[in-house]
Amino acid sequence: MVRAQISMVMVLDKCIGCHTCSLTCKHVWTNREGQEYAWWNNVETRPGVGYPKRWEDQEKYGGGWVLENGKLRLRLEAMGKRDPPSIKDYYQPFEYNYEELFTEEIRDQQPAANPINMYTGEEMDVKWGPNWDDDLAGANIYAGMDPNWRILEKEIYLNFKDVFMFYLPRICNHCLNPSCLYACPRKSIYKREEDGVVLIDQTRCRGYRYCVTACPYKKVYYNWKTGKSEKCILCYPRLETGQATVCTVSCVGKIRYMGVVLYDEERVIEAASAPENELVKAQRDLILDPFDPDVIRQAKADGIPENFIKAAQESPVYYMFKRWEIALPLHPEFRTLPMVFYVPPLNPVITALDRRGKYNAAYENIIPTIDELRIPIKYLASMFSAGNEEEVRKALKKLVAIREFFRLVNVEGMSKTEASRVLSEHGLSVRDADLMYKWLALGRDRWTIPTRKVELRMKIPKRASR
Ligand code: SF4
Ligand code: SF4
Repeated sequence: MVRAQISMVMVLDKCIGCHTCSLTCKHVWTNREGQEYAWWNNVETRPGVGYPKRWEDQEKYGGGWVLENGKLRLRLEAMGKRDPPSIKDYYQPFEYNYEELFTEEIRDQQPAANPINMYTGEEMDVKWGPNWDDDLAGANIYAGMDPNWRILEKEIYLNFKDVFMFYLPRICNHCLNPSCLYACPRKSIYKREEDGVVLIDQTRCRGYRYCVTACPYKKVYYNWKTGKSEKCILCYPRLETGQATVCTVSCVGKIRYMGVVLYDEERVIEAASAPENELVKAQRDLILDPFDPDVIRQAKADGIPENFIKAAQESPVYYMFKRWEIALPLHPEFRTLPMVFYVPPLNPVITALDRRGKYNAAYENIIPTIDELRIPIKYLASMFSAGNEEEVRKALKKLVAIREFFRLVNVEGMSKTEASRVLSEHGLSVRDADLMYKWLALGRDRWTIPTRKVELRMKIPKRASR
């Protein structure tokens, strides 16, 4: 059975951590009572603790799936764990008393707007927030609390303190095997047949919060005012009219790309049950080639409209995840088959400093080798490939190859055909390079969203203990 999914890729080298995406999302969807603490889109600093604190630690939170005797089981069932995170794990939301700024009498000092606890209405001392460790502020304290960090050697940690960081924007991954959906005893959560968006039916939800525990990304939020759970809806009213999500459109760094991918629904369980170091490959194998005449024929037979097939052929997500293999899923070991992908950061992109730290324009290896990069591959592999370092290396090498290619052409004056040797050893063509340049460097045509009219609930096969 061929299905269509609207997915996203985020290119981490381009994220500047401005939080515009979080703010636009907040203003459109969660700027209301009951959702004060909720950031459907949040941006974290890495290495760091994340939001809610240490969300990646499933021993603590019990999210995602485990493979038991070759069968998938919700981790919350396997652990007998039901407790969702508490407000302490998120943060105490606060506002500023802006009113005071306008009404204060004229004094010698500037007036200050003190933070006010949004729950108690009292002034408060802010001690934690959704991105508290922003810009390495206190990294030597917080980086060690990053669950990905435990796998690294001490000396790397010591080097890290001086040098590396990157931002990690996160939304709901609209997973192909969503543990939130299977954990819901009311069957309130469903995946839309036409585009794979995962939604919570507010009329059915009774606020049991199993979904909050079961989502390993902690992207379901309980609304204390309505007594129901809520989550990112991938701006589906915008998608239906062919527009990208608010976070994508407002992204200052143009790091977000959206498009359709076609996948084989019957092989979802098989892919989610793959051995840990093969999970990325198994998820890639699920994605179908939208140019293949057999796939097109089957997609049409399965009711996928023409405009979705065309959008899949032009989809940046298809190219980046499947064809070029430069994008990776976040924590595939949670086995939910997340459909938001990340192009890992190179950091730094070029080596312009010599070994003494002086700027050197004549530096021969202006493009660094993969092992000269600051971010340990092991750390990236812990986040994006269930520890499979080869997947990360492969992606980074291609990103470097593209830069080398354009440097040879634009700086050294080589012809594209001559320079293409640096591409071909990574399975890339000049056309691939031009397309990457258009999407990644210029940020043009970043989304292809087909319009549609109906909303159908996908009939998902029973595949777990529920
Ligand atoms: S990220 Fe979490 S909330 Fe979103 S679909 Fe996956 S399991 Fe569900
Ligand atoms: S708006 Fe874009 S660049 Fe700014 S933090 Fe969000 S993802 Fe990063």
